[in-house]
Amino acid sequence: MRHQIPEQRWRQRLGPDLAPRLDAMGEAIERCVHCGFCLATCPTYRVLGEEMDSPRGRIFLIKEMLEERLPLDEVLEHLDPCLGCLACETSCPSGVRYRELLQPVRTWGERHRRRGLRGWWVRLRRLALLESMARPTWFRAALRLGRMARPLRGPLRRASPALAAPLDLVPARIPAAVPLPRSTPARGGRRGGVLLLAGCVQQVLEPRLAAAVVEVLARNGVEVVVPEDQGCCGALALHVGEEGRARRLARRNLRAFAPVTAAESDFDALIVCAAGCGSGLQEHAALFAGSEHPENPEHSQRSESVEQAERAAAERLAARTLDATTFLDRLGLIEIPAPLSRPLRVAVHDPCHLLHAQRERSAPRRLLASIPGVELVEPRDAEVCCGSAGLYNLEWPRIAGELGRRKAESLLEPEPDLIASGNLGCSVQLRVTLEAAARRRGDAPPVWHPLEILAAAYRGELDDLPRRVEGARTGSRPWPP
Ligand code: SF4
Ligand code: SF4
Repeated sequence: MRHQIPEQRWRQRLGPDLAPRLDAMGEAIERCVHCGFCLATCPTYRVLGEEMDSPRGRIFLIKEMLEERLPLDEVLEHLDPCLGCLACETSCPSGVRYRELLQPVRTWGERHRRRGLRGWWVRLRRLALLESMARPTWFRAALRLGRMARPLRGPLRRASPALAAPLDLVPARIPAAVPLPRSTPARGGRRGGVLLLAGCVQQVLEPRLAAAVVEVLARNGVEVVVPEDQGCCGALALHVGEEGRARRLARRNLRAFAPVTAAESDFDALIVCAAGCGSGLQEHAALFAGSEHPENPEHSQRSESVEQAERAAAERLAARTLDATTFLDRLGLIEIPAPLSRPLRVAVHDPCHLLHAQRERSAPRRLLASIPGVELVEPRDAEVCCGSAGLYNLEWPRIAGELGRRKAESLLEPEPDLIASGNLGCSVQLRVTLEAAARRRGDAPPVWHPLEILAAAYRGELDDLPRRVEGARTGSRPWPP
């Protein structure tokens, strides 16, 4: 679409942090030829059925706003329900990078939208969620409170589904913390070295996952270091347009992960085992492309040379961040010795931030297929989001619930023994929706990260896996012991 964006005025309006992205925004609009190929995979279009809730509609609305024909609030009405899943990018034959529009408009929108009482409540609730989820101790305490409040779900849901949504996602059991060694040597000959993002929510909900990733990497000759001073990667904040907060969190990690961004580094990559965190870290170059916004408390401490150094480090970190499955697939797996006594049917769930944002589909499949006895099954609509999408299932529970229900149906159709998902948010959403299916059907398959499945295969424990989990126990993760 040809556009007539008044560029000077918009550079001023966007501010020093977002203005450098205006050219990419204009290019995304120009590339869109309005063909509509993206509609079929857009989850909000599939659920809501409205043109303005499709990628094509949203691109048109943003263009109208940038051409000063439409107020921001009318655009946000349709941009807010967008999951940021980026299925539209993968299905677009013209190569429109929708994220180049979504991210800056969402961030600018958060700064300038008009808020009534409800708007402020939504924002306060969002900030409380972001604060607690970034701190494992706070998050664990919040989950305990959530467990106590679970009996109130019914009345809360009648008052507002968004109030009950966090309680629906609280797991039946909060697992004990699993300490991670700061440094794990490679077993056998050293084939590489990596830093590992330990994750924040993951440390509380899936404490065994990082340990399994370390184990698989070490078994494959990779030295793993978990830097002590790391924190939340900021992906959740980035996803909801809180870029100032995301940058503050990113700065801490730029220091913690400095060993991997050095020119002469002993480390090959920063490894991430949650696709959402990985794609967030890979966006760091854009996040640091401009200067700090004056509204951000850190603005006054920034000199041009500091910002330049940060920009260079952020670009290097983005380039060196890899999903654990991508890294291992490129490295090549050391053979798994113990074959399974009977075939295991595995359905791979593709997290949007791996499939669409990182364009990685084959690595988890190749890794799992290399386990002797594993048979991969392909669910339909694999490219459509499960409804998790960061905070989305907490803020838009009706749409997220419908997407989760549809995803559970499609995953169950090929009758897998278990489901592999490389993103914690998706795993939580899938377990909740599969639990609902299990209550109807009697059982459902459990959900594991691909590297947890590999770790069990290396230990020779994959045969012990309960392949069907009865009733409502899908979320309580009874295996491995
Ligand atoms: S598929 Fe691409 S070019 Fe076609 S309408 Fe969607 S975004 Fe525009
Ligand atoms: S990011 Fe996902 S929800 Fe948003 S427009 Fe694209 S396909 Fe639709």
